[in-house]
Amino acid sequence: VQEAISENAATCSSLLEKYKREIAKRKALHDALVELKGNIRVYVRPKPLLESEGVPSVFSHDPDDDTVISVPLKGRNFQLEKVFTSEATQSEVFNQVSALIQSVLDGRNVCIFAYGQTGSGKTYTMEGSFEDAGVNQRALKLLYDETQRATNMTYDIKASMMEIYNETIRDLLGSDPSEKLEVKMKPEGGLHVPGLVAVPVKSLDEINRISKVAQENRVTASTMMNEHSSRSHCILCVSVEETNLITGSKTRGRLNLVDLAGSERVSKSQVEGTRLKEAQSINRSLSCLGDVINALKNHHTHVPYRNSRLTYLLQESLGGDSKTVMILQVSSHPDNLNETLSTLAFGQRVFSVELNTKNTPSSARRPQSETPSSARKLYLPSDNAAGDNTASRTPTNSLVKASSVPCRLNIKRDA
Ligand code: ADP
Ligand code: MG
Repeated sequence: VQEAISENAATCSSLLEKYKREIAKRKALHDALVELKGNIRVYVRPKPLLESEGVPSVFSHDPDDDTVISVPLKGRNFQLEKVFTSEATQSEVFNQVSALIQSVLDGRNVCIFAYGQTGSGKTYTMEGSFEDAGVNQRALKLLYDETQRATNMTYDIKASMMEIYNETIRDLLGSDPSEKLEVKMKPEGGLHVPGLVAVPVKSLDEINRISKVAQENRVTASTMMNEHSSRSHCILCVSVEETNLITGSKTRGRLNLVDLAGSERVSKSQVEGTRLKEAQSINRSLSCLGDVINALKNHHTHVPYRNSRLTYLLQESLGGDSKTVMILQVSSHPDNLNETLSTLAFGQRVFSVELNTKNTPSSARRPQSETPSSARKLYLPSDNAAGDNTASRTPTNSLVKASSVPCRLNIKRDA
């Protein structure tokens, strides 16, 4: 009997070793696959025109090449990782980013941004509608489903939602959404936001509840501040801790889903007061996001993360082996052409960036693309009139229900 037990123990130990090697191999293969696509990807999603708008789209697409989007009126072509057509469904868009969700389970940090002028579909892509959910809900659901399928693993998934308005962080799941929060360094290292509520994601109902509470609080807070949600960045931050029950090892990953503030330029001469302050702070933080990516690209010893709340908050999820996806939302309407070109130029610029170029020269991965001299500047000046958020002919977030009292979740706060 003793001999049989020892034999079994030896077999178990050898199987455990093999299992650990297999897990490491699977993670490495998945990493290699994701790595092949680069650490920064830029996708374009044009918003469809309504028939009632009665104008042709400013875009043309090459049916054989989904990496190019052309603006014939201006004779400009932009090459990016992936160009969706305006008919692309929510599920097609999500399929492009779903592999990164696996990376989060493997302990990677991922940021997905929606960038573009107000009314171009950022919130539609990230939040979607109740009938047709966007990236946020689909990502949470996929994470949840993956954790249900996994054997010999336990997962601790928590979600937080924040808004950055005029360089102030507010907790959209907290009991007082008007309270100002700060990014702080933990004594043991690493950044955190003291007081930020993190809700355990334990069921699909929980996911829906989080989204609803955050949407209601976003509106409540903005009513109190008399501003519109398009003037703030909205961040859904999901942290995942995986524990392997066999080896006892833990991995931690983080997924940041960011609906950025409208990128439209606002003419200084036409706005003042609150509106000017908002415009300046959005301008600064979007510029800073571009600066941070540039500094990473050029391997600067100093990366100016601290120049904006957004980049400081996301510091640990940008750079290194983190993955970043920028979904450029563009209007197909001729009236919005300047902003559309400005957004595409921003994306073109970001696309030429590689966060991790240690082993592969970035030129080897970068496709040959038009980089017009005007696009070399991150932000093209465009003098849209104040309040002329030209893409917003359609009502902005039709999903959001206004509420006069903050929504509450009774959840423990991060001390
Ligand atoms: P943003 O967040 O960039 O200001 P929204 O996401 O609020 O813009 O979109 C503006 C309007 O256009 C909304 O009514 C939204 O439902 C609609 N919309 C945006 N993108 C699409 C799309 N791909 N298909 C259908 N409707 C869309
Ligand atoms: Mg929006």
